[in-house]
Amino acid sequence: MIYVHVPFCRRRCNYCAFNSTVGDETQRAAYVDALITEINLRGDNSSVETIYFGGGTPTTLTLNQLARIVNAIGNGFDIDAGAEITIEANPGTVDADYLRGLRSLGFNRLSLGVQTFDDALLKFLGRIHSSRAAIETVELAKKFFGNVSVDLMYGLPNQTLNGVRRDVTQVGGLDVEHVSIYGLEVEVGTKFFALNAAGQLPLPDDDICADMYDFITLELPALGFRRYEISNFARGNFVSRHNIGYWTGKRYFGFGAGAHGFDGALRTSNVRGVDEYISRVSAGMSVAQVEEVVDKRAAMEEFCFLGLRMVDGISARTFAKIFGTEIFAVFGDVIEHNRRRGLLNVVGDRISLTNRGMSLGNVVFADFLL
Ligand code: SF4
Repeated sequence: MIYVHVPFCRRRCNYCAFNSTVGDETQRAAYVDALITEINLRGDNSSVETIYFGGGTPTTLTLNQLARIVNAIGNGFDIDAGAEITIEANPGTVDADYLRGLRSLGFNRLSLGVQTFDDALLKFLGRIHSSRAAIETVELAKKFFGNVSVDLMYGLPNQTLNGVRRDVTQVGGLDVEHVSIYGLEVEVGTKFFALNAAGQLPLPDDDICADMYDFITLELPALGFRRYEISNFARGNFVSRHNIGYWTGKRYFGFGAGAHGFDGALRTSNVRGVDEYISRVSAGMSVAQVEEVVDKRAAMEEFCFLGLRMVDGISARTFAKIFGTEIFAVFGDVIEHNRRRGLLNVVGDRISLTNRGMSLGNVVFADFLL
């Protein structure tokens, strides 16, 4: 698995805490050169089943820049013929020629940051697109991509339950394969954080947010999107193979500023600053630092709390096979405690969150930290 981070956006959204910046053409060109150098240095010809270009907004790069990055990956790795290759894009920023170009570079999955179809809300969020642009971009994207995902947000300032209903109904009417949902988090350092501190961010209260969440998670399945993870829904088999890789503990390379990687034993992260990343790569210095050594205990914990994110949950047999010990010998008390309070199901070999457990996932996951 490979993740490529492209940190550039046309404008920064008011809630954004991602590693993103507006940048300019010179910085983008230098960044692409650095990214290619990093890929060239670290490529090990290993086989790759999924590639994900995230950001930021990767489609702020030109097709030529993306082609150079894709070529570098092709030279350094063995990309599976059936690999899932995703790129994130924002509505209103891609036209037919650009989408056709993405397909010809090998991208076969498009993830669109729609967030909501409410124009006033989009403006408040600082997004650059309108509801109309979102719908038109989805329709255009479907002419080129057979696998399109949209992101939806809830718990937004001034958002109502009726507004969420309208958004979900709108998504149901679109020919998309996948939906990811996100509850707004007001993060330190964002414009929303400052507004909130000044008492000027009219957020819906917790009960309304819970109602929004319940509505979305009940309604999307009714519209044909099977829930396969706490926040992810797919029509047919169009699950995100890349994200499933994260939840099942696969190894991955992360290229670019702030990108994370996991080699099976170490979790690493690259320096976050774009200019620092560029200058370190140009000077031949390392950009990665070790975040965590994943020893056996940490690996057992991760197996549980990452795997339990998925509706199918985790397999006791697989745990025993990987770790040479029974899951109930290590986590028996935790599993029984959460089963008794209605948050976990234990059926045969499988342990999974109940519906209630899905909405209280973090409470359950915390219990799995030994
Ligand atoms: S488009 Fe996404 S990454 Fe870019 S500023 Fe907005 S929220 Fe952040």
